[in-house]
Amino acid sequence: MKKQIAIGLSLALLWIASACASAPTTFVTDAPFKPNSGNILLRCGALIDGINEHARPQQDVLIQDGVITATGTRLTAPAGTKVLDLADHTCLPGLIDMHTHVVESQQDTNDLYIYLTRNETETLDLARPLARKTLLAGFTSVRNVGVYYGWTSRSLRDEINRGVTVGPRMDVAGFYLTIPGGGGDLLLPDLAESDIPAHLRLGVARGADQFRQKAREAIEGGADVIKVIASGAVLAYGGVPGAPEMTPEELRAVVEVANKAGVPVTAHAHGAQSIKDAILAGVTTIEHASLIDDEGIRLAIEHNVGLSMDVFNGDWIATEGRRMQWPEEFLRKNDETTLIQRQNFRKAHAAGAPIVFGSDSGVYPHGMNPRQFSYMVEWGMSPMEAIKAATSIAASYLKNGARVGAIERGRLGDVIAVAGDPLRDISVLQHVDTVVMGGLVFKAPATD
Ligand SMILES: [Zn+2]
Repeated sequence: MKKQIAIGLSLALLWIASACASAPTTFVTDAPFKPNSGNILLRCGALIDGINEHARPQQDVLIQDGVITATGTRLTAPAGTKVLDLADHTCLPGLIDMHTHVVESQQDTNDLYIYLTRNETETLDLARPLARKTLLAGFTSVRNVGVYYGWTSRSLRDEINRGVTVGPRMDVAGFYLTIPGGGGDLLLPDLAESDIPAHLRLGVARGADQFRQKAREAIEGGADVIKVIASGAVLAYGGVPGAPEMTPEELRAVVEVANKAGVPVTAHAHGAQSIKDAILAGVTTIEHASLIDDEGIRLAIEHNVGLSMDVFNGDWIATEGRRMQWPEEFLRKNDETTLIQRQNFRKAHAAGAPIVFGSDSGVYPHGMNPRQFSYMVEWGMSPMEAIKAATSIAASYLKNGARVGAIERGRLGDVIAVAGDPLRDISVLQHVDTVVMGGLVFKAPATD
């Protein structure tokens, strides 16, 4: 296996070796860059395209102006198009994580009070390296399903879209829609409600009319997805994960507004009742789904609702969160939901429920997202099913998912590669050494 290194030195060498002064930038070491402008031919030892059931040997992928224009064997590189030799690699579609918090990180969980004083500039300064880590781990698209500091995820998304910050394509929820004191509210012990800055509570509402108004504000502000906190949260004070927080009427009000705008709604719901309420209200995906029951599984199948079950991070919280002295209440609720969520993941998958890859990154360190693949396989999925959950199936639940999630003509040129065969050993996805987004190479194997 070739030595793997991150962008920087190796790409600088590649660049010097292969670029001429007037050529478009194909190897990106840092911002600024021109998004979706890359031209490159990838020669892959094997290709998993995100749709077919099997990998195909020796496939080339041609990307022109950021878009996949051809796949096949022994394609000819158009004049001036660079070739990346991945003969001992497996290529896959850029991965999609449907549940991230790229703007936030795990260090803050044991001191949520930090959010009261951190300003927007500081928040974004902290977020940019996290976005970069996420992309370099192989995730070219993420759905950022919540921030405490309202709209900071939108700022990050827009920077990436302008090519001034290196990171994945982001679908963002501008803020959490949540009841006062609910799982998305930042009510903290010993803190008066009036002392919480307004930018931390943009989506706090009570009653169908208020929720309708908040949904409108999110959509008008540019949210790609609406996130409702339907039941209690693990990593928040006072919430009971199994207990409903939003009413069916409130959930329906949000979905009604979002449907008109063509914006999907995803529901944070650990509890069995809230999962059913949210599905019947018309959400497109359920986050966590820890305590889902047979009826909830049946409804998810019937309504084609994707289950985004974060089956990895419970172990991280139980060990590292405990070591970092997270609040005892959080640790207890994590312990109460970890095993049962995995058992229910197995059950939901066996029953045929649609499952998407959602890891809740930010709860654990960004960049470790691929760890979840091994858990999905351990708890019942085949490696190919886990890969599809993070590619074409995830894409089908994104607002504009038809352009990502698979390697086929017409989709954006988002391709990753790993040395080895992830269908034999899914854990190789923890070592993504090639990341191409929009035809631009952000990470490549060393060329020694
Ligand atoms: Zn989350």
